[in-house]
Amino acid sequence: MALGEFDLIDQFFKFPNDSDWKSQGIGDDCALIELDDRVLAVTADMMAITTHFLPDADPETVGYKALAVNLSDLAAAGAKPQAFFLSISMPEIDEAWLAGFSKGLKTLAQQSRCSLLGGDTTRSALVGATRSPTTIAITAMGELPKGQGLTRRGAQVGDDIWVSGTLGDAYTGLKHRWGHWQVPGEDAPYFYARMDRPTPRYLLGQHIRPYASAAADVSDGFMADLGHILERSAKGARIELNQMPCSAALARLPAKYQQEAMLYGGDDYELIFTSASIHREKLLEIAKALGEKITCVGRIQSAHVGDYAPEVWQGATRLSLGKQGFDHFKESSC
Ligand code: ADP
Ligand code: MG
Repeated sequence: MALGEFDLIDQFFKFPNDSDWKSQGIGDDCALIELDDRVLAVTADMMAITTHFLPDADPETVGYKALAVNLSDLAAAGAKPQAFFLSISMPEIDEAWLAGFSKGLKTLAQQSRCSLLGGDTTRSALVGATRSPTTIAITAMGELPKGQGLTRRGAQVGDDIWVSGTLGDAYTGLKHRWGHWQVPGEDAPYFYARMDRPTPRYLLGQHIRPYASAAADVSDGFMADLGHILERSAKGARIELNQMPCSAALARLPAKYQQEAMLYGGDDYELIFTSASIHREKLLEIAKALGEKITCVGRIQSAHVGDYAPEVWQGATRLSLGKQGFDHFKESSC
């Protein structure tokens, strides 16, 4: 059987760390590198036209989102964005496309005060008679106080499980764009905006950091990304479907679409974090002061060894669900 994305990383890219820079190792949203007086959080994310974006995607969206997904990883570590490097490979120089891309990228770089400090530019590979589509790789760096930084490890039995914003909107936008789901015409711009312009929650991440025990961002889907926290923390979880945050627009779609989108839809770039229940009021206060929404969707519980899949309950009924979630080498992509 072909290897999945995560088995592949385990098998080929987990090397011993022989350098003077110590970190927690591969497997979290960011590597946390301990320097003398602070911690450096580093993440790298690559996006390709045709894999992550439709071939005719608006270049401004591509520029914005390429940085947004990296800032979202910094948010999951609770880090303050500081700098990024941009590597881009393109089939040809298209000035109009580059102008749009640069505008989208710069808008978010300025908003987040994350400076572009370097990178690389190349022409993409020739495959047969045509060149491969544009690929963008960004490495972003953020800062944390000494000894700080959230990882996917650390969730404790009894902790609340929180999510920011609403879940499933980006996936619904994609399903609509593909023609699989019909959404009311007036709701389409909302879903498209959530898919094209996710809001990286880096301010929220920094403020909840002192109270959170573990965190991840939702890129592969809520169940998959919560699953990463559970696996790394060796814990289980009980999720209340009726408490999952659903946008007004998603609430207008059939219940089975809501469930699929909120549980399995990727690309939301919301935060999932766990926290001892004594911090509940404080967390709600923080979110309110930042104008952010956070919702408690369940609780961490102990797990049967090797079975960290979250349980999903609807009232008194436990739903029987398969294991889904995005893996680049297991499913077809857009
Ligand atoms: P995210 O979705 O938050 O960007 P992923 O789930 O894609 O993170 O990756 C899981 C972990 O594997 C991360 O710690 C990431 O840095 C690491 N990783 C992914 N690809 C590679 C690679 N080719 N070499 C080394 N580490 C990798
Ligand atoms: Mg992530």
